[in-house]
Amino acid sequence: GTAAPGSSLDRLTQEQESVIPSAPSDNSLSLQSQRERLPIAKYRDKLLYCIEQYPITIVVGQTGSGKTTQLPQYLLEAGWAAAGNVIACTQPRRVAATSVAARVASEVGTVLGEEVGYTIRFEDVSDKDKTRIRYMTDGILFREALLNPLLSRYSVIMIDEAHERSLYTDLLLGILKKIRRKRPSLRIVVSSATLDAKSFHDYFCSGASPQEATIISLEGRMYPVEVAYLEAPTTDYIKTAVEVTWKINLQHVVGDILVFLTGREDIERFLEEITELIPSLPRDAPQINPVALHSGLSTEEQLKVFSPAKPNSRKVIAATNIAEASVTIDGVHFVVDCGFVKIRSYNPSSQLSSLSTVPVSLASATQRAGRAGRTSPGICYRLYPESCLASLAVATPPEITRTDMTTPILQLKSLGIDDLMKFEWISVPPAESILRALETLVAARMIGEDGRLTVMGQRVAECPIELRIARMLFSSKEFSCGEEILTIAAMIAVQDVFVIPDGAPGALAELERRKFTAEEGDHLTLLNVYNAFTRYGRSSSWCKAHALNFRAMSRAMSIRSQLSKYMMRFDLPKQSCEGDAKRLRQCLVSGYWRNVARWMADGTYRSIQNDQILHVHPTSVLFTRKPRTGWVVFHELEETKKLQIKVITEIEPDW
Ligand code: ADP
Ligand code: MG
Repeated sequence: GTAAPGSSLDRLTQEQESVIPSAPSDNSLSLQSQRERLPIAKYRDKLLYCIEQYPITIVVGQTGSGKTTQLPQYLLEAGWAAAGNVIACTQPRRVAATSVAARVASEVGTVLGEEVGYTIRFEDVSDKDKTRIRYMTDGILFREALLNPLLSRYSVIMIDEAHERSLYTDLLLGILKKIRRKRPSLRIVVSSATLDAKSFHDYFCSGASPQEATIISLEGRMYPVEVAYLEAPTTDYIKTAVEVTWKINLQHVVGDILVFLTGREDIERFLEEITELIPSLPRDAPQINPVALHSGLSTEEQLKVFSPAKPNSRKVIAATNIAEASVTIDGVHFVVDCGFVKIRSYNPSSQLSSLSTVPVSLASATQRAGRAGRTSPGICYRLYPESCLASLAVATPPEITRTDMTTPILQLKSLGIDDLMKFEWISVPPAESILRALETLVAARMIGEDGRLTVMGQRVAECPIELRIARMLFSSKEFSCGEEILTIAAMIAVQDVFVIPDGAPGALAELERRKFTAEEGDHLTLLNVYNAFTRYGRSSSWCKAHALNFRAMSRAMSIRSQLSKYMMRFDLPKQSCEGDAKRLRQCLVSGYWRNVARWMADGTYRSIQNDQILHVHPTSVLFTRKPRTGWVVFHELEETKKLQIKVITEIEPDW
């Protein structure tokens, strides 16, 4: 437990300089001695013994104890990667896979991508022959099972961050239980930050011998964390986060500050506001080094959070949920928790998924607070009143219970799991979402009358993109626009193509974007951006001048060429629509047939699925304009204070 009795934020102003002893700086220590100081080090032999003895080992330990970075190395050192075997470690988040792999590569003393590598969607930094430890997202390992159902090249598979219960973690646990029966030599490690080990244990032992699985708990020292609350709720948590961070900096001598926000937009606004204040810092106050941590950053940018603060200054790390458990940053003494998290949720009756900003669960709030007490006592400032605690959910429900099951079911079928009732779910998804998914797959001609996958279904299951985008790639043959759909698919897979330049929020980017604006909407605008980039740009200076993110654009090029190989494999022609935007938009409808909305005289839209009120997201080129036909398709639904549609294109109602 971390929560000390709550106190009001007002005490901040009265507090004298608190003296928090600073932890001995790890930078002076060699990587080897840093490894030995981690709590997991004492358990090395015991862990290796259990993994030898038991098919399934469940490891529970506080975040930061060394599970993710050390365990795969112990296994490597003990010979588990001999004879061409590979040790896999899965992560629910891409950022965790890449940053941990970079760290472990330097601990092992190898170039990233050789002995230690990572694989995330569209980015493979591993070597078929050389890589011995492979960090990867759970989704990638699951997809690998489609091609190699026994996952035979892995001697040990570590399902990390299992407590998070991401969709693909659950699905992997399900198929691993099957694979394990066919491959007795396979070793499975399930690691978790919280004490839900018993449920994983019961899951693996049901229908098997009690000798099937064992649990190891790593003791980790945890310092007390004092928790402070706001007296009254805030309507602008970013502004409040800036104020609280500012006060912490003035009142305490040492210790970095970790600020939990919901996403990239929040983080950028927070950093912008705090950076603006820096010139007004009193001379005797510590300097502030602001850093961001979210999934839109490059691997190098992500690693910046680990570099120590400069002398006489402190790091202020503005992070998403990534920092809650998957990435541990040493030196944090203060946590500022906005109290919200962005999650994907799914409404089976309308069959629409949306990204919603919702209050965190109690489990998350406790975990976030705990980040302040790793190396010394700390303080967590929650940006809501203590009375709100009573209304928080105990834990976030597993993703499988609140997600669109269409793609997962397609993939399970492709693995030969036709009888979904017999699959050993760790949590059963709601019957309605299974039913809707099956209906969708039949309507999309991916499952035939006999309940089996069609040829197209089998191919789409292999494609590393969302089902509706895959479907557009397939229909592009009919509409002769493969060339353009390929580009749109790649641009959609990359996020954050447009940059919000420092100091001129929105304005400049808006102006720059106008140059690429297509009347028909955002998809064609993205196409224009891509074409201009490949024709004139391909340089970071060109991107900068046009308020585009060079890294995102380069990623789009790489994704496009990867998707282009799938088109070739599936014998889909790459014809150009030769500027015929109508054909292209018809092709978009073939994928977005559920995401249709109609314009209303008051400027809002109504979803065709369930008549919900929708607003256009301000980033859309249709933000200020009525679509000529009154009808649109949209890529994404985001819920903050209202429901907003993002990436929109005009269509004809009779399509
Ligand atoms: P766990 O998985 O148990 O939460 P980790 O293995 O992720 O623990 O972390 C162990 C230690 O390694 C932590 O102290 C963390 O700060 C450190 N660490 C992880 N990645 C890096 C990195 N890229 N640079 C510096 N330190 C790192
Ligand atoms: Mg970890």
